[in-house]
Amino acid sequence: MADQIPAQIKSMAAMQAKEHVQAYEYPPKPLAKLDADVRVTYTGVCATDQHMIDNDWGLSRFPLVPGHEVVGHVIAVGSGVTELKVGDVVGLGAQCQACGECENCLDGIDNLCPERKFTYFENTVDETGEHIHHGGFSSYLRTDSRYLFKIPDGYGEQYVGPLMCGGLTVAAPLYEYAGNSWDLKGKRVGIVGIGGLGHMAIQFAAKMGADTYAISRGTSKKAFCEQLGATGFIDSSDPDSMAANAGKLHYLLFCVSGGNIDLNNYVGLMRPYGTLHFVGVPDQVDNFTLMPFMFGRLTLSSSPIGSSQQMRAMLDFAAANDIKPIIEEFTHSTANDAIQKLRDGTIRFRAVLKNDLI
Ligand SMILES: [Zn+2]
Ligand SMILES: [Zn+2]
Repeated sequence: MADQIPAQIKSMAAMQAKEHVQAYEYPPKPLAKLDADVRVTYTGVCATDQHMIDNDWGLSRFPLVPGHEVVGHVIAVGSGVTELKVGDVVGLGAQCQACGECENCLDGIDNLCPERKFTYFENTVDETGEHIHHGGFSSYLRTDSRYLFKIPDGYGEQYVGPLMCGGLTVAAPLYEYAGNSWDLKGKRVGIVGIGGLGHMAIQFAAKMGADTYAISRGTSKKAFCEQLGATGFIDSSDPDSMAANAGKLHYLLFCVSGGNIDLNNYVGLMRPYGTLHFVGVPDQVDNFTLMPFMFGRLTLSSSPIGSSQQMRAMLDFAAANDIKPIIEEFTHSTANDAIQKLRDGTIRFRAVLKNDLI
């Protein structure tokens, strides 16, 4: 079926902060040499989308077309594109451009490029000028092909979206901790928060060979976490459970979004030289005191998404090891239902929209 990007791209957009998304059309930017046109098949809904719709960080521009966990099919490429061809299944994550020339880009940490562009946060720049970049709540996207990543054959497209932001976000720091490998044998890794990020982090850590401890309030998620690959479970609301696991963990990954994290509650779980690493964004981190970190020789760190190289490695590892997010499917037209469930905290565990706008 011949397919080409339409003169007006159908999408779902928030016209004002905190509003429901509604039908919105916009014209594609001019085709740059390194652009590719993509017909969107699915897009995930991430907690960041909700924050951006609400303009919680003062970064949002309206009309705002959210979505940075996108998968689709390449339907056309610019004259300079050599890495992709029509028909490829590709994913787009939270980053849609970097300069490619700065020290960070040349060092392979392009997610930390000072000129990086987050999908739908900022304008992209190319030889055709500077343009607004909309997100995956669109039916089509025209976007820089260097940030479209080929999806391994046979990996179900409906599962791809959540890997593109959430999957990368949890896998990249584990990969770095493993010395840029996927081997965590002999390490005991804790995952705090069993939600959209945490349920993927357990799978990655377990498939990397780590002794993986799920950490949650109460024990209601214990059996579920074991199904995902966890070998241990710690109830963070139970002092006995915390005491029984004192000094055990080499690495602790905080996957909690919203709410308060009491750091003092967790430092006791760490071995000397342990690392406590944040990928989720709690509303507040309470009780940071230096002494337990100094005398435990602990490291506190954090990271945003991951690099292009880590994205490719993550997609290959997820496909080879059958790591998949657990999803609830909606459509672009019913995006508001997905956003409401996200607000209510009742999504199990990532919302995905199927493109029904074509
Ligand atoms: Zn995200
Ligand atoms: Zn750069």
